[in-house]
Amino acid sequence: MTRSIDSIVIGGQSIAPGQRKTIEIAVPSLYTHTQLEMPVQVIRGKKPGPCLFISAAIHGDEINGVEIIRRVLNQKSLSRIRGTLIAVPVVNIFGFINQSRYLPDRRDLNRSFPGSESGSLASRLAHLFLNEVIADCTHGIDLHTAAVHRENFPHIRAVMDDDETRRLAHAFGSPLILGSDIIDGSLRKAVEARGMSVIVYEAGEALRFNEVAIRAGVRGVMSVIRALGMLPTGSTGKRPAKTFTTNSSVWIRAPQSGIVRLIKPLGSRVEENEILGIVADPFGAQEQPARAPFDGIVIGKTNLPLVNEGEALFHVARVSRPESAEAHIERFQNRLDPSLDVETSSEPPVS
Ligand SMILES: [Zn+2]
Repeated sequence: MTRSIDSIVIGGQSIAPGQRKTIEIAVPSLYTHTQLEMPVQVIRGKKPGPCLFISAAIHGDEINGVEIIRRVLNQKSLSRIRGTLIAVPVVNIFGFINQSRYLPDRRDLNRSFPGSESGSLASRLAHLFLNEVIADCTHGIDLHTAAVHRENFPHIRAVMDDDETRRLAHAFGSPLILGSDIIDGSLRKAVEARGMSVIVYEAGEALRFNEVAIRAGVRGVMSVIRALGMLPTGSTGKRPAKTFTTNSSVWIRAPQSGIVRLIKPLGSRVEENEILGIVADPFGAQEQPARAPFDGIVIGKTNLPLVNEGEALFHVARVSRPESAEAHIERFQNRLDPSLDVETSSEPPVS
């Protein structure tokens, strides 16, 4: 799908072909009566093409994506794009200010789509984003991290039975794709109903920067831009990285309350029944292991060793050839590790 050369209107402002504009979209003010805006940057190429949005901090404490978007917007090649790029680094302004996943009313913005003009604060913000910011988009990348005290290995979540979405998911080039169901009320659900193809990038931890996750995110977004024909593919000369796809994953939960020793790191391969971590009381008298239910790769884990029975410890994705996936993941991590600096970056690494 390509956009016509008509003017695109966002937040009441039109953006003509060849223009790059930052637009402040008014959102409900704070109770201090302080005005608030959602900043949106629109880059419109002279030539028509797809309209891609990249969004971050829909969960206000998931900040890796904010840095990914900042670095993407610094790419000089964007001056030559076809079509339109709409970048929204902070969708949930309220959560971002409060360093919280939620809106001030404790609602989750990513469970409030498509929203409505007269609904809750979350519902209104969802409606505004959908109708004022990304209404004209054909594709999208929504950037997330794990929730607070948890960490995700960089992976893509997407509905893999849609051809175009699958193409985007592979183009991103993260080592792992989790074909996942769409949750009611999520942005993905709302945009699917409008015929957009959207993938979610999950990487790192809430309220933390993770350099490997950020570098992989920047690379991934630029790869999707190229795959959509918005920039020439020849500019990198790199082939898309190999990806492993799975539709099955499970959270391993604490068998008892206690203090957990996490044994298996993110991205590591595990075998069925292998011990991932051990939960014990402070003296170690009551030890219980948490085991892998099947062969797979650790794609998520808690970073907080204090757990109550039933709390999520490890997220394991079932992979048919875990040894091959593990080798590929190791190469991926080494390539993006700033201490090894195999891949040159114009940005100094954050830690
Ligand atoms: Zn999230």
